[in-house]
Amino acid sequence: MSQRYTGLIERYRDRLPVADDARLISLGEGATPLIRLHNIPRDIGFGGELYVKYEGLNPTGSFKDRGMTMAVTQAVAEGAKAIICASTGNTSAAAAAYAARAGITAFVLIPDGKIAMGKLAQAMMHGARIIQIAGNFDAGMRLVREVAEQTPVTIVNSINPYRLQGQKTAAFEIVEDLGRAPDYHCLPVGNAGNITAHWIGYSECAATHHDAVTKACSYCGGRCAYAGGGNGERPTMVGYQANGSAPFLRGSMVDEPDTVATAIRIGHPQSWDAAWVVREESGGWFDELTDEEILATQKQLAAREGVFCEPASAASLAGALRDISRGRIADGTSVVCTLTGHGLKDPDIAISQGSKIETVPATLDAVSAVIGEAV
Ligand SMILES: *Cc1c(COP(=O)(O)O)cnc(C)c1O
Repeated sequence: MSQRYTGLIERYRDRLPVADDARLISLGEGATPLIRLHNIPRDIGFGGELYVKYEGLNPTGSFKDRGMTMAVTQAVAEGAKAIICASTGNTSAAAAAYAARAGITAFVLIPDGKIAMGKLAQAMMHGARIIQIAGNFDAGMRLVREVAEQTPVTIVNSINPYRLQGQKTAAFEIVEDLGRAPDYHCLPVGNAGNITAHWIGYSECAATHHDAVTKACSYCGGRCAYAGGGNGERPTMVGYQANGSAPFLRGSMVDEPDTVATAIRIGHPQSWDAAWVVREESGGWFDELTDEEILATQKQLAAREGVFCEPASAASLAGALRDISRGRIADGTSVVCTLTGHGLKDPDIAISQGSKIETVPATLDAVSAVIGEAV
């Protein structure tokens, strides 16, 4: 049998709601690397295991592909001719790509200004119908709900339950890779769909996927810690927001969210209730970071570990590093930080804070002089 990886639906079909005869709309999403960091833990004297789940390596460069393969597969199965979403950028990129793959139309509502260049380029290239509104994500989301009531278009935002079903598979992969759940799982939080999806995934791992009689784990083949029959082990879930856009810290909706991390520039999270349940059940917490802290960690991760993520993604690691330094995350524990999107999504931010270009004459002397200074 062929070993070619063909995406997360085929990989986890037995635990996803997909009809046997469904036409799968896939671009080979999932199976992203869980990279153990070495330099940063050494720098800060952390004796535990610190990992990043590099979701930026999905086909369109963000974790949104995990949900989109499910949502578009289901939409096509139901006969939809068009899908629609509001987006800070990555949902529109994923919706556009999977719609192209399926041969249906994607309508995307984007906020004016505040969308990262890479994401806009993707939606344009995949042929989406791009509707820019004079308003923010939250306004776009409201409009999408209203339009979908009157018009036969399927919403593919994370309020579509198939999205979270696809996204839960990231937790399956982590448990397989580590042989158990980590002690802590840290994520950036916008609409809070992803933190909810991970909790669903970990909960399913812990509770249901080990046959009590045979002790066989139905997805890891018996390698993981749950192979004894589901011991209920799940991580503490920690969600980080940008302080200008932190409804979970305020305890109520924020009407004018603002942050350089545009992917989490959301003031009215769609999975509000669910995320509070995740915090409660996992014994976790929410915390907030300044834009400066987020950008400093984005650069630190790229420069010290060779891993390039977009600003919003760096919120997970920035928060984890701060909580490690404060002892809220104990030394010696295992920590996974989700890097939700690729750094190339937002080249403007990267160029504004990365290494500067050194301009010299096109001569051996000039180039040697620069190198000679450094070695
Ligand atoms: C969508 C997105 C988020 C936020 O995820 P939610 O499920 O809305 O909480 C974070 N980072 C990136 C890069 C995203 O695209």
